[in-house]
Amino acid sequence: MSADSSPISTDIDFDADGRQVSYLRAPHSHNTSGWGNLLIPITVVKNGIGPTVLFTGGVHGDEYEGPVALMKLSRQLGPAEVQGRVIIIPTLNLPATRAGTRLSPIDDKDLNRVFPGHPRGTMTEVIAHYVRQEILPLCDAVIDLHSGGYSMDFVPYISMHYLEDEVQYEQTRAALEAFQAPVALIINELSGEGLLDYEVERAGKIFLCAEMGGAGMLSLPALRVAETGVRNILKYFGITEGEVVTRESQDNPASRLMEVPDAGYYHMAESAGIYESFYELGQPVEAGQPLGQVHFYENLQRDPEQIIAKQSGMLIITRGPGWVDRGDTVAVLARNFATRPTELRGS
Ligand code: CA
Repeated sequence: MSADSSPISTDIDFDADGRQVSYLRAPHSHNTSGWGNLLIPITVVKNGIGPTVLFTGGVHGDEYEGPVALMKLSRQLGPAEVQGRVIIIPTLNLPATRAGTRLSPIDDKDLNRVFPGHPRGTMTEVIAHYVRQEILPLCDAVIDLHSGGYSMDFVPYISMHYLEDEVQYEQTRAALEAFQAPVALIINELSGEGLLDYEVERAGKIFLCAEMGGAGMLSLPALRVAETGVRNILKYFGITEGEVVTRESQDNPASRLMEVPDAGYYHMAESAGIYESFYELGQPVEAGQPLGQVHFYENLQRDPEQIIAKQSGMLIITRGPGWVDRGDTVAVLARNFATRPTELRGS
């Protein structure tokens, strides 16, 4: 075993045709099982030559539409309908999914903040490293299915980042639109390094992140969006046959291309209390208007603190629980996509 080889192993043969349903086995020594293992479910469906798409869910354990859509896909998809390869991991952060928490209870780490990971690190880092080292090189595209988790709630959207490489941008943008979510979003994230997203993008591949609902719930409308979206991605890449199912063909409003260009669209609470949003998800908000207010339940003489919209746009993310702490994100707005390609590349 070399210094950078993963302790994770699998009996999956990624080059074999057919449908394989098995596990990624990560050794996990703990008090009740000294020679225990974490068995992360994985399905691989392959037939002949063609593109490889990786679908991941459960990177955060309190997000449910992605895992359910992917478990269904895992059961339904057979090699006869596939040209290429589909890798499905519905609950990549299995310990977090078991606990129903964002972070892994094994090491209190966020799987989507520890990339590129480390083969001798903690469990979360070991999982991240395996994905980057062993699975990512096999893939042409990675579709990571998230939701708002316990702490946030989202308008169901499919998203990508502003990418400097023109070809990668155009290819990712086409896949983004093929997913057919209510909103197709180009987003400038403020969450820092360590995301799976950047590993895939730096490798020159296509990366999309779906955000499908949240507040600790499984939303039925968002689940339908996820189910249609993963099928649409397979059709878009020519892995399965048939036309992409559009929103309009399902009697829904067309997918809206929107963007979150900078920090001006993010709003946080600056005091702890109970957050009252003045808007529901999907509603338009005017710059300068109050988005909501934080109530001070321990001091009835104190007026609520208003949170003022810094920009005009649609409310696409809101706080999940009613209580908020100082620094919590309570609202994110998106505007109709207006950035020109030349601005994207800073030229
Ligand atoms: Ca998430």
